[in-house]
Amino acid sequence: MSPKRLSKKRLTLINPVNNVRSGFAVNPSSRFPPLGLGILASLTPDDWEVELLDENFAPFSYRDADLVGITAFTSAANRAYEIASIYRDQGVPVVMGGIHASMCSDEALRFADAVVVGEAESVWRQVLADAQSGRLRGLYHGQWLDPDRVAPPRRDIYSDEYVFASVQTSRGCPLDCEFCSVTAYNGRRYRRRPVADVLDELETLNNEMVFFVDDNIIGNGASCRKQALELFQGMVARGMNKTWFCQASISVADDAEVLDWAARAGCRMIFIGIEAEDIGALTEVNKRLNLKKGASAYQETFDRIHASGISVLGAFIFGMDSDTPEALFRRAEFMVNSDVDAMQLTTMTPLPGTRLFQRLEEEERLLYTNFPNDWAHYDLTKLVHRPKSMPPDELWDIIRQCTERVYDLRTLKTKAKRTLETTGSMEATEFAYRTNINYRNIGLALGTLV
Ligand code: SF4
Repeated sequence: MSPKRLSKKRLTLINPVNNVRSGFAVNPSSRFPPLGLGILASLTPDDWEVELLDENFAPFSYRDADLVGITAFTSAANRAYEIASIYRDQGVPVVMGGIHASMCSDEALRFADAVVVGEAESVWRQVLADAQSGRLRGLYHGQWLDPDRVAPPRRDIYSDEYVFASVQTSRGCPLDCEFCSVTAYNGRRYRRRPVADVLDELETLNNEMVFFVDDNIIGNGASCRKQALELFQGMVARGMNKTWFCQASISVADDAEVLDWAARAGCRMIFIGIEAEDIGALTEVNKRLNLKKGASAYQETFDRIHASGISVLGAFIFGMDSDTPEALFRRAEFMVNSDVDAMQLTTMTPLPGTRLFQRLEEEERLLYTNFPNDWAHYDLTKLVHRPKSMPPDELWDIIRQCTERVYDLRTLKTKAKRTLETTGSMEATEFAYRTNINYRNIGLALGTLV
């Protein structure tokens, strides 16, 4: 070992996974690299040696470190605290960040020496300097960064087993749906990275498959549309040969030219938050764009996307206040019988930092409040609140029945045939079918399907 190597400090970054929810790792294609940790690694000076312990692939085992950085989604918060405590017992300082620690910073601070609230880039160097001088101090508040300052992640810290590379082209959302914490975390202003930066980053990827993690890759308004178009055209011009999926608002279907270039650039599936097929439920969660179009426009949306050879992954929520048993069975039938290709069925979940959480807490309707232990239940598959129009047991029973109906293998095979007919694309069909099978496997692993 060289003296230089010996003099380096060791930064250990940790991506914890909810043990109960490890069913989500049943297929390598349903795991995605922790982008935030990769970005922190790239912002860490050379006098630190950086490694990633990633529970997506192996359960945590202790590695010595001078500083530990842990991120976590809410459902893995408890696991993050467990690991943080192991290091702190050894006298190793721990800094936590990411969406859960940002939304529950006081709680996280009980388990860490420091907590970064919000986007960490603007304060990361300060955190490292303070750690080095033994002066880590409580809360650090990250700024919402100008998009041209977003660094690409250091991808060499990720496992080679990740099928998809995660790439971010924008941050922020002006829409503020009741159940979502994106606006609180990334702000209302939609910030798009310069197209050339994203194209340069894409050219460095070894993975052929890409997931654009943006909440809405097309954004809103004419200038966002122009930049999305430039991105897709740039991918074609540079001969990238990637196949990818992304998330977008329902408005993506309004623009045939954008869809056409997305498909030519390798887009095979678009995730759209449909949430519900009825107006009352959409009003309840403030899903403004869907409301503006009207729920009857969904089929037209699917048709337009299919016409470009792209499949649709529709996300649906079960358990809103206006959901009666009839409405839920109707929603499941809509999922099965409409031309949506892949289907995500989640249970309404009040995540911390959302207006939904605040409302249900005020109304004393949270079923699990022994935090932080009970965060493990907040994984989008379980019922964690008392519904308005029926007892919890009844809603849970209906969700299970609907899950059985939606992910029945015959349904999924029929869907795949239909996707091939409507998109004319074998790749788009494979994307959608595999996604459905992943969700089915998750249901089997978690016991919501038998
Ligand atoms: S659900 Fe989507 S549209 Fe609504 S606030 Fe979150 S990111 Fe924005």
